Amino acid sequence: MTAHLNIEVIIFNQVARFCRNLLKNNSDICSTEDLKLNVITRQEHNISRKDLSDNALKVLYRLSNAGYDAYLVGGGVRDILLGQEPKDFDIATNATPEQIKKLFRNCRLIGRRFRLAHILFGRDVIEVATFRGHHKEDNEKKNISAQSDEGMLLRDNVYGTVEEDAERRDFTVNAMYYNIADYSIHDYANGIEDLKNGIIRLIGDPETRYREDPVRMLRAVRFAAKLDMTICDKTAAPIAELSPLLRDIPAARLFEESLKLLQTGNGLNTYWMLRDFNLFQQLFPVLTPFLTEEGNSPAEQMIELVLRSTDKRINSGKRVNPAFMFAAMLWYPLTAKAQEIQDDNPKFDHYESIMEASNLILDTQVRSTAIPRRLTATIRDIWQLQLRLPRRTGKRAFVLIEQQKFRAAYDFLEMRGKVEGGETKDLCDWWTEFQDAPAPHRNNMVQNLNGGRRSGGPRKRRSPYRKKKRANNDS
Ligand code: ATP
Ligand code: MG
Repeated sequence: MTAHLNIEVIIFNQVARFCRNLLKNNSDICSTEDLKLNVITRQEHNISRKDLSDNALKVLYRLSNAGYDAYLVGGGVRDILLGQEPKDFDIATNATPEQIKKLFRNCRLIGRRFRLAHILFGRDVIEVATFRGHHKEDNEKKNISAQSDEGMLLRDNVYGTVEEDAERRDFTVNAMYYNIADYSIHDYANGIEDLKNGIIRLIGDPETRYREDPVRMLRAVRFAAKLDMTICDKTAAPIAELSPLLRDIPAARLFEESLKLLQTGNGLNTYWMLRDFNLFQQLFPVLTPFLTEEGNSPAEQMIELVLRSTDKRINSGKRVNPAFMFAAMLWYPLTAKAQEIQDDNPKFDHYESIMEASNLILDTQVRSTAIPRRLTATIRDIWQLQLRLPRRTGKRAFVLIEQQKFRAAYDFLEMRGKVEGGETKDLCDWWTEFQDAPAPHRNNMVQNLNGGRRSGGPRKRRSPYRKKKRANNDS
């Protein structure tokens, strides 16, 4: 088989893919018994050492020079073959974590469930994993592997051969190994064919593999959306039904996954795919009642707006703050909850009910995706500023515009204006004009609010008596 990949071939194959999928490939499963080593020599593929980071090369060579096997694996191989830049470089070796640690001073061993070595080069981290082997009952007793009653892998620290390691990888396109010893690619699950045909296919029995680690369902969607590939029928079939298994995954891991899904430049596509597989609903249960057949409820419109703008920012190299996305996605569940609270407690004013609803909505959300506290603080700030933006009289507008979070709050209001129209849109237009206006015009704009009653004309001095009275009350 020739495997000389280049980008033109891949584009051509994308066109041919649909037809081929219909014919055969799309419905087969990749049984672990079918795994067979296919070596693609350096002349037959387009990965060059120039495509790897210096740090990844350093780690590969140091392992190799010390007599260990060392391969680049996973996204590093897959993405370079597709002509894309890998997000990170993952390395697999037969050296144990302890042996790796001895070789690298800048090494930290991490993870209990899945023990790994991180080689640190400043902020760049190269992940090195020891080949995983098969689980045996014996291992459970020795506490190196463990599985829950539902089949979920609780610990996976059985080491094995590279062949066994390939079986334990998730998708065929992720089970290709670039060998630093001779620059060949070792392809165990015919990943190269699936890559050419644009197919995401699990290795082994899909249901068992999803039960072992339900996050694989999210990964299938992530790769399909990111790489514009199709999840093959048998790999896709069990997802919707098994999606509730995600509830057993620690919320901290799901938070990390949610960022990879929605904050890496393909958020909008990924969102729609996640919804189709009933996965989005597991990550954002508070949004489930707001999802409609037509897909255009205010909450859904807001999700689309924020994901579209997030994708645009990321793809033009700008930074994004996940707090903004979470704030937008949860805004309409928040206002609905606030309304409920106000209906039940007529004594609560609008501000109080929004504050109370913020606590309830965020408490519920962090149970599925553990949004860290520094981000929930920003989410609250953005929400609170929505209540302050309509109050512009006197010095308020001038103070507000200087606030650190003003820009985020304004961008947020702009999206709300698009969804709600009416007064919200008018308010947004006012702020748009105010931001760019010269000082005298800004004063006029504020004076014109409420017919200029409160801010027009010379300010009345507050009577010294009222000041005193307030001071007494405060004490
Ligand atoms: P990217 O880095 O672009 O997100 P990736 O495929 O490199 O994609 P990583 O999370 O970096 O993903 O994992 C590296 C490799 O480890 C994967 O390609 C896959 O072979 C293996 N892997 C990761 N997570 C799992 C999992 N849950 N089950 C089985 N194999 C996995
Ligand atoms: Mg990776």
